[in-house]
Amino acid sequence: MVIGIDLGGTNIKGALVDGEGAIIAKLETATRANAGPEAVAGRISGIITDLEAMANDRERRVPGIGIGVPGQSDQAQGTVIFAPNLHWHNVPLVKYLHRITRLPIFLENDANVAALGEQWRGAGRGSVNMVMITVGTGIGGGLILNGRLYSGTNGSAGEVGHTVIDPDGPQCSCGRRGCLETLTSATAMVRMAQEAIDRGEETDLVRVENLEAKDIFMSAEAGDKTAREIVNKAAYFLGIGLGNLINIFNPDTIVIGGGVSKAGDILFKPLRRTAMEQALDAPAAVVRIIPAELGNDAGCIGAAKLVFQAVESQDHYSLHRKGEIRD
Ligand SMILES: [Zn+2]
Repeated sequence: MVIGIDLGGTNIKGALVDGEGAIIAKLETATRANAGPEAVAGRISGIITDLEAMANDRERRVPGIGIGVPGQSDQAQGTVIFAPNLHWHNVPLVKYLHRITRLPIFLENDANVAALGEQWRGAGRGSVNMVMITVGTGIGGGLILNGRLYSGTNGSAGEVGHTVIDPDGPQCSCGRRGCLETLTSATAMVRMAQEAIDRGEETDLVRVENLEAKDIFMSAEAGDKTAREIVNKAAYFLGIGLGNLINIFNPDTIVIGGGVSKAGDILFKPLRRTAMEQALDAPAAVVRIIPAELGNDAGCIGAAKLVFQAVESQDHYSLHRKGEIRD
């Protein structure tokens, strides 16, 4: 059994996960990022201590801890380089956590970790080349290539949300214009709805308080013309993004995660149509585009997989270095 941690801007989730990817126990606490990195590390430590005790009750030893981080991390240094939601720059997270445990700790970007989880136990089971796109407030991406997580040269691969689809499009938080994230995220859909309302379009969305993407999908289902146009627009741009990914990576599976993955045919039909139009025939013939299955558990399960992967590949170098293996 290993411990998988999903460190988010709002909550920290932790799970005890067995070798089959099943969750044996789950804990959750508020992140309270305002209190600073050391305090957050203390809260993660609390979850680790409790989960380790649960493993010990079952007479199991925990060989390591995997952590999905909402940003970029440096595995070799054990630091979180940048996590905008937490306001973290160069935080020595592993050093803080080693105050309470000497177990090896593996850090990885949260979107990458979610991809790993879905490939292991979710919608991407059995997939060899898989792209996962998480569409929420922003857009995250993770790549599984030749059966393994591909993190890139310095851990920043898979930033699908910041591929530019329309150079004259809306301003993105990253400073560029027309990134996929500005055209198809939940935030983008709500912005489009607000713009339509401001233009005076006749739509049921006017009456929704604290409008969210799921309200737009519901109104679209109910036949609201404005809502339908927004969904089709979002599906169109996401489809262009997927077409590009299909042509570059020739994946067997694309998994769509995040809140929108529950939208069903109203999103997936136009999305698949555009993606297939944009992709070349050969890669289009072998790819399936499907919703994620693990929901909020993908992070913890994928984080746990980081540890199993290291053990399986007998990553003696990293386990040695972390003081775990003594022969
Ligand atoms: Zn961007």
